[in-house]
Amino acid sequence: MEIDREKVLKILQEIKSIHLVAATKYLNVQQLYELEELGVKIFGENRVPSLLEKYEQYHGKGIFHMIGTLQVNKVRYIIDKVAMIHSVDSYKLIDEIDRQAKKHNLKMEILIQVNIAMEESKHGFLKEELSSVFTYLKSKENVIPKGLMIMAPHINSSDTEKYFIETENLQKELQKQFPMFNLNILSMGMSNDYEYAIKHGATHVRIGQALLKDSPK
Ligand SMILES: *Cc1c(COP(=O)(O)O)cnc(C)c1O
Repeated sequence: MEIDREKVLKILQEIKSIHLVAATKYLNVQQLYELEELGVKIFGENRVPSLLEKYEQYHGKGIFHMIGTLQVNKVRYIIDKVAMIHSVDSYKLIDEIDRQAKKHNLKMEILIQVNIAMEESKHGFLKEELSSVFTYLKSKENVIPKGLMIMAPHINSSDTEKYFIETENLQKELQKQFPMFNLNILSMGMSNDYEYAIKHGATHVRIGQALLKDSPK
């Protein structure tokens, strides 16, 4: 049988375009340098105080993303320190990111968090709200929407797969509906399920525990 050159290139491209966002909540600054040496380029923090502390102490080449729930009144502390905010879950937060970005004369890349399994304990917009959210984003000059982020439910990995599929489909619909944006990022998949997420179009996997020795994952 012949090699399908186009397919090989496509697969290589697909794999190359997946970014590891190292979730840093279990890590100290020394370990950020250790990860950087191994080739990790993006550090994802989920709490503002820890992000500020690491940002101050770390002077390497890696960049920071905000991946955890962000309170509206904390945006101003991180706006000029992160390259992307994954966890945008309210109109108020969109407004504040836009306002602070304007103030700092920068454009902030954001992902819209979707509460894909409609869990009460989880943040994020419901999928029915997404059209309105992205329509709203058209008027926000200093915010650049790049795609979607989900936190999958804590169930076993094979059951999580349906949420990844659903998110990928949502992404495709939104790309059609909002061609003025470049919605090519899908931030999904963590230590216990990232292989499934990648299978269904994740471009950014956020991994913490699996980077550590003796972790259960
Ligand atoms: C901690 C964290 C992760 C990574 O979780 P692990 O199970 O440790 O891989 C991903 N996303 C967010 C928002 C987190 O807070």
